Amino acid sequence: MMNSSPIRVAALDVYGTLLAFDDDDYSCPPRNRLGKFFDDCEAREIKVVTSSDGMTGNVKNDLVIAFRIANDRKITIDGPERLGIDRFDNFFQLDQGIKDFSVIIGHYDILPRELLVIGDNFNKDIWGALRLGAYAIHCPMYGVDQGKEWDFGKIDLDNIERMSQPNLQKPF
Ligand SMILES: [Mg+2]
Repeated sequence: MMNSSPIRVAALDVYGTLLAFDDDDYSCPPRNRLGKFFDDCEAREIKVVTSSDGMTGNVKNDLVIAFRIANDRKITIDGPERLGIDRFDNFFQLDQGIKDFSVIIGHYDILPRELLVIGDNFNKDIWGALRLGAYAIHCPMYGVDQGKEWDFGKIDLDNIERMSQPNLQKPF
């Protein structure tokens, strides 16, 4: 496939974005069509990383368990081979508060506009990205009882300028 996306790295928040933030017993599947998103990124040579402010060990552990349960029970519309921790190129633990995505931009030696951030927290994820000149997509917070109307299939990587939050100002 021709690489028609300007994005080279996609940084995904984890809790409230990939996994339900209030799911203590892994009863919620990973957010729908995450597998398709991994496939879409792979086809465009976009690296996918996590950008949680949670401890990396916990993040990995939660993702491994959630993916395994989803694959075993076939409770997502993603195929069994499409969800796996190996689909992430890296796991970044960013600071609490407004996230400093320059860590990821520096690691991959990319331009800010080659980074796409996806997250549920407006201040930490979205403003953290936009203030550097990166692209950002704000998803509704995913929880046991909320946010299921949004899924990763909504993201069009080839039209990211249109998908990204337009002309936002600092929230406060
Ligand atoms: Mg979050």
